[in-house]
Amino acid sequence: MARNRWALWPFALVLLVAAGPAWAINIGICVNLAPNYVDAYAYQTPNTDFFDDSPVHQPAYGMWIEVYTSGNTTPFYSGWLQDDNGTNPGCTAAKNITVTSSTPYDVKVFSQMNVHNNTVDVLKRRYLTSDTFMSHKWTGVTFTTNNSYNTLSDVPDIQMSRIMAVLGFALSRHDGGLNGQLIVAYDVDHIDNPCSGGDGPACNDLDGVIWYQVDSGQTTPDITKYKSVLAHELGHRVMSDAAVNEIPSPEYLAQNVNSCTTGGGGHARNSPEYHSAAVLEGFAHFYSDATFNVVGGAGCADYSYYAIQWDLAPGGSTNTRYAYDCDGPPDPNNTNQTTGGDWLYNNCYYSPFESLAGYANEYDYERFFWDMADKEGATVAQLIDILSDANAGTAWNGPYGGDTNDVVPRLVDSATLNGWDAYPTYVWDNEITDNGVWR
Ligand SMILES: [Zn+2]
Repeated sequence: MARNRWALWPFALVLLVAAGPAWAINIGICVNLAPNYVDAYAYQTPNTDFFDDSPVHQPAYGMWIEVYTSGNTTPFYSGWLQDDNGTNPGCTAAKNITVTSSTPYDVKVFSQMNVHNNTVDVLKRRYLTSDTFMSHKWTGVTFTTNNSYNTLSDVPDIQMSRIMAVLGFALSRHDGGLNGQLIVAYDVDHIDNPCSGGDGPACNDLDGVIWYQVDSGQTTPDITKYKSVLAHELGHRVMSDAAVNEIPSPEYLAQNVNSCTTGGGGHARNSPEYHSAAVLEGFAHFYSDATFNVVGGAGCADYSYYAIQWDLAPGGSTNTRYAYDCDGPPDPNNTNQTTGGDWLYNNCYYSPFESLAGYANEYDYERFFWDMADKEGATVAQLIDILSDANAGTAWNGPYGGDTNDVVPRLVDSATLNGWDAYPTYVWDNEITDNGVWR
């Protein structure tokens, strides 16, 4: 018997070597999302903003991660990846996940994240029946280097990952002072018809849910390709959730009564609107600006509508819209008033001037908020405080949810109340004949 036992040893050694070395190591895991975009560099210096002019992988800010030994159904590690408050955004907090070097693992991430202590759920909903998380799974991953971070990068460029990329990034840059909030966003088919009126490509509903429509029945199919929309809707959500005083509902009826139809009317950036609509929409545009531009940096660019594809330059073959300057005045060389980002006054110069007195357009307020942030140093949270305090006690006065003589003075008073008493006139650079914010 002893002889036979000794005789087995060489065979066992060969098996051990063939299976590879196996020892416990400690690792961290990082995850990148993979939307490929190039955008908005007409007014920007590449590499200073969110969008470089080369394919960019975005850190999976705060996403939920689970690690399994392959074949198992119970994760042995789970947790949030770090947001930008962490040492390594998009990575586990530490390199302390103990694994075995030769064992294959499965790693899953979900379209749920925690950014600055706020939870964001991105869900897919079809025909009112399914609310499902995106989960992406890497199978058979092995880790070999002790005390290292391992990056997993091939989350596909799909609707939900685009939503995750923008919402995570936007919230990590400007949380508006939110803490402990739950933000829910749906990737939804138009057939579900969730937006009031049914024709909006994206909207917020009264329950605080963001809907992004992705079907081909829309004039702008798959709204998740339009980063401005993704951030704009989040801007509404952040504003509503962070405001101490309830923000009055905007009144969009002005689309039917204005005498200036240059922009096509409706709830468009350049349509004459009652101030209650223009100020809230302008804030959401500003939030998008602040997401994709550096406040206090070289300038500000946005799209008057939306880039058709994230990876096309302005004016590209399938991109029918152009960037506009959201920092300075409209581009005088851009005669297309829909795309030039024009103020209401310029946009409606041919109209009876008095007809503009009760109106503003969204560009006007967008630039106002940008100037307060860029030139005066107001944070998004402070701007929300100004908006909120302008509504303290009573909602906007006026027959249509706020008129010029109510909204603008209230904002000025509220800004002073919040410590912005210097409040120079130039922040109202859309003033009087140069703009549509008539006061
Ligand atoms: Zn909006």
